[in-house]
Amino acid sequence: SDQKVDEMLRQINSDNVKFIRLQFNDILGIPKNVAIPVIQVEKALTEGIWIDGSSIEGFARIDESDMILKPDIDTYQILPWRSEETKVARFICDVYTYGNKPFDGDPRSVLRKNLDEAAKLGYTFNTGPELEFFVFKINEKGEATTEFVDHGGYFDLAPSDTAEDLRRDIVLALTDMGFEIEASHHEVADSQHEIDFKYGDALSVADKVITFKFATKTLALKSGMHATFMAKPIGLINGSGMHTHGSLSKDGKNVFFDPNAENQLSETMLYYIGGLIKHAKAIARLGNPTINSYKRLVPGYEAPVYITWSAANRSAMIRVPAARGNSTRAELRSPDPTCNPYLLFAAMIAAGLDGIKNKILPPPPTDVNIYHLSEEERKNRGIEMLPGSLIEANEELLKDKVICDALGPHIVENLTKIAIAENDAFRLAVHPWEVERYISKY
Ligand code: GLN
Ligand code: MG
Ligand code: MG
Ligand code: MG
Repeated sequence: SDQKVDEMLRQINSDNVKFIRLQFNDILGIPKNVAIPVIQVEKALTEGIWIDGSSIEGFARIDESDMILKPDIDTYQILPWRSEETKVARFICDVYTYGNKPFDGDPRSVLRKNLDEAAKLGYTFNTGPELEFFVFKINEKGEATTEFVDHGGYFDLAPSDTAEDLRRDIVLALTDMGFEIEASHHEVADSQHEIDFKYGDALSVADKVITFKFATKTLALKSGMHATFMAKPIGLINGSGMHTHGSLSKDGKNVFFDPNAENQLSETMLYYIGGLIKHAKAIARLGNPTINSYKRLVPGYEAPVYITWSAANRSAMIRVPAARGNSTRAELRSPDPTCNPYLLFAAMIAAGLDGIKNKILPPPPTDVNIYHLSEEERKNRGIEMLPGSLIEANEELLKDKVICDALGPHIVENLTKIAIAENDAFRLAVHPWEVERYISKY
């Protein structure tokens, strides 16, 4: 409304902001931005700002490449690492087409559309991601390496001053940016860290995931280090996941909790889990979107391989944490932090709603370590595997009408193009492993 815009303009003025960054996301979830001097902000907030979308990944439609960025006022944020004299604030924008319609290649708009479907049933979809990342040394040429900066382990204290300081800087900056940080700790692998922030409605959380990654990388660089959210930067040690907790609420009440049900898990929750399990293979295309993502989904490194759920067992793809009441939730452990959170959350809610609408019960929970089961036992229990590669996951996506409809043809076509191009490029490369393995033997 006009009043909201006026209030915003006054705020920007009193914050003494000099530049505004208008941020939006490509199909990969890579943030893009246009900077405007503060005098343009009124126009941006009232009319939007025109951009040429033709060379943005997953946007390209040469014939209608002029697009409008419309800042979402609720996403106003000062970037705390810029100097006081040249204060910079950002807005996250929705992308509109030439014809002034939400652009169907804008991941944020795709998520909004799916959250609207949930809202029709009275549901708010809440998500809480746990982002893991590695911090590596930078070489003399300023390039990222895979050399560790510390040798700490899970929950270790002060593994090295540099990494501890960096994690503290990240937590402080994120707090300045309105994050409620719940925990931060050293992860299992050397030089690997995790920072968890409070769950919230899926749209604002997706915005936060993007901001989180971008802030972490920026602050690491400022300390002469490189932070990466790549899923499996080093073979034979843990990769980085983005476990995503999900729950539905209605009128502010968690509908996954039912004090009278078995394990106090409501029928709605079981159907949600049933939907996630049914669509898990297609969801992999969104949660695990790189060639490298599939090197994480292997046995032995705390990442899931089999499509199962359990109340306790961390080898399952979905775990139900012990907390109940308003904290009742399902933790999806397959996604990794290279995902585009908008598309991942869109696919998750679409799958969950399919489960709820069609009363899809999940298979019985798998409370044993799945890796201790023989192939035969797994077969008898009907346990299936997550896709083994990006191209396989993309094929699963194409077979899954519910998830394709949730994303829309524009996104699906572009994801397919990307999966094929990535796979072709990968096949053109000869990996050092292959040379080492075969050069002497043959
Ligand atoms: N890094 C593991 C993964 O890839 C998770 C480890 C953990 O959080 N315990 O998912
Ligand atoms: Mg954790
Ligand atoms: Mg973790
Ligand atoms: Mg977890």
